[in-house]
Amino acid sequence: MEPIMHQVWPRVFQRLHRTLILPKRNHSGCAEHTAVPASTHSRHIRPTLLVSRLYQPSNLRDVGQDTRLQGEMTCKSQRLMLQAGLIHPSNPGCYYYLPATVRSMEKLVRVIDQEMQGIGGQKLDMPSLCTADLWKTSERWDLMGKELLRLKDRHGVDYCLGPTHEEAVTTLVAHQANLSYRHFPLLLYQITRKFRDEPKPKFGLLRGREFYMKDMYSFDVSEEAAYQTYESVCQAYTRLFARLGLHCVQVQADTGNIGGKLSHEFQLPADIGEDRLLLCGNCPFSANVETLSSDRTDCPQCKTGTLVESKGIEVGHTFYLGKKYSKVFNATFTNAQNKLSIAEMGCYGLGVTRILAAAIEVMSTEEEIRWPGLLAPYQVCVLPPKKGSKMDEVAVLAEDLVHILGEALPRLRGEVVLDDRTHMTIGKRLKDASRLGYPYVIVVGQSASEETPRFEVICQRTGETMFLSRDGLLDLLGGVEIV
Ligand SMILES: [Zn+2]
Repeated sequence: MEPIMHQVWPRVFQRLHRTLILPKRNHSGCAEHTAVPASTHSRHIRPTLLVSRLYQPSNLRDVGQDTRLQGEMTCKSQRLMLQAGLIHPSNPGCYYYLPATVRSMEKLVRVIDQEMQGIGGQKLDMPSLCTADLWKTSERWDLMGKELLRLKDRHGVDYCLGPTHEEAVTTLVAHQANLSYRHFPLLLYQITRKFRDEPKPKFGLLRGREFYMKDMYSFDVSEEAAYQTYESVCQAYTRLFARLGLHCVQVQADTGNIGGKLSHEFQLPADIGEDRLLLCGNCPFSANVETLSSDRTDCPQCKTGTLVESKGIEVGHTFYLGKKYSKVFNATFTNAQNKLSIAEMGCYGLGVTRILAAAIEVMSTEEEIRWPGLLAPYQVCVLPPKKGSKMDEVAVLAEDLVHILGEALPRLRGEVVLDDRTHMTIGKRLKDASRLGYPYVIVVGQSASEETPRFEVICQRTGETMFLSRDGLLDLLGGVEIV
């Protein structure tokens, strides 16, 4: 879309720009700071994101009536995501992730990258198509049972679509002949599509057959070093969930078919959670019910507290693996004594699509989506007045405001949408904006054309409404963290 060039500048519009300091591009492409009206160089500005053009088909049908969803139990996040045009069902347990969801996921991936790389993680990408040979070597080809999605290629060779990559990554590391203790701790991770042949996929993105996961694998010189790495990953997970505003609990867990000696789950307490947790009312002790005898009601840690049951959505899982895989695949390194030694391993999963859906599940109301601030697909929605209303003359200020925000706060570029559906009333569009959960909604009304322009700003997280000057608005939005 061509940015609108203003032939005639309304008086109010000039006033809005008069004192704004904007970076101006010179011929060499370097920015220099001069006071200029925004539209002088508006060809350098991204086209305004218009709500009418976003591919986010609202689907207000009762999802319970949708035959494509029959057999899938629904939950709040699934219903809200379907209604808001965030996801669209394809085949059982599989969804189209529509553009707003992809924006949100990309942000989540950036936050995860920051936290994983903050503890020394290096990102790689492994094939989803895994040969059965690898899985037979670890004996998991049979252990995994029907959940492993298996297929044959044209030569009749068995493969699976990887739900996890212990075999693949350990083989990779084992192939590096000259690995030494100086390379350790080695933390390799990927964020890719994973597959699981769920018998009954349900709850939308919470339990699908195809989903995104972050899986990290650690290699260490000793058991002691491996425990330190394990602890640093758990701390990174705790920081990650805190940044997202999710109150997760770290619980002792069963090691299941991954194997190993020590395991924790990161659980987000929620009524629809499929995991049963026991939390002590007296001390931080918490465990998945699977790890304790089911009739146990006293706390094994403090002995005095009573265990209370709660339900949780598992959003992360950590395992200390020891030499389970490194021994089988011969992942060795040269130790400080110049001798070959077998690496100590750990593996650490995060359900990327599941975190997104679980956050919507626990933060939203029945009608309105609420996102972790960092993950909202767009941070700001600007609402111009209804076309033909007596405030029509200020409509142009709304589009200019989008440009001003992009110029003064470059980090906000691509984060501000203009709800140009001006055939609809402000009230109707406000309701939509509230349902979609933009963290900040700005109403450009009559007060925007006053001597000192003021904008009505609704902060969705707190429900607070403020009337801010342009500078006040820039201060407020300048403080918003964008990943
Ligand atoms: Zn206790």
